[in-house]
Amino acid sequence: MDFFEQLKKNVVQAGQTVADKAKKTTDILKLKEQIRQDKREIRDITYRIGKTYIKLHQNDYEEEYEKYFQSLKTVKEALAEKEQDLQKMYDKVRCTECGAEMSSSDDYCPKCGTAAAFDAELKEEKIIDFKDDDDHFGDSDIAREE
Ligand SMILES: [Zn+2]
Repeated sequence: MDFFEQLKKNVVQAGQTVADKAKKTTDILKLKEQIRQDKREIRDITYRIGKTYIKLHQNDYEEEYEKYFQSLKTVKEALAEKEQDLQKMYDKVRCTECGAEMSSSDDYCPKCGTAAAFDAELKEEKIIDFKDDDDHFGDSDIAREE
């Protein structure tokens, strides 16, 4: 093999190595994404199993579940308390002009007519915050375990 032929061969081989590397990188990324999806699915199924168990056995669970049911109860109580606190804060809105107490549902001060300081976005947030959503249980430790 003469010099130029060898050089050509080397260049082709080098190109293949680059292509192989690129393909490998793509394959790694693909696999990583699939692994992530599988983990997500396992987490989701685990969460559903937990939710179903709670539904069926909240009054007759095995003692291994005691700590989970206790934690759930504690967190639910704390959550209810915080939601109440938040509700109170919303209810105690005062007019920025005259200081009169306003209801969170008032758009204008009932005393002086000044537009309420809180905007529509804040009200929307409130609606979302207070909607009863048992699915929040999904954020608990049980669901997070991998
Ligand atoms: Zn006012």
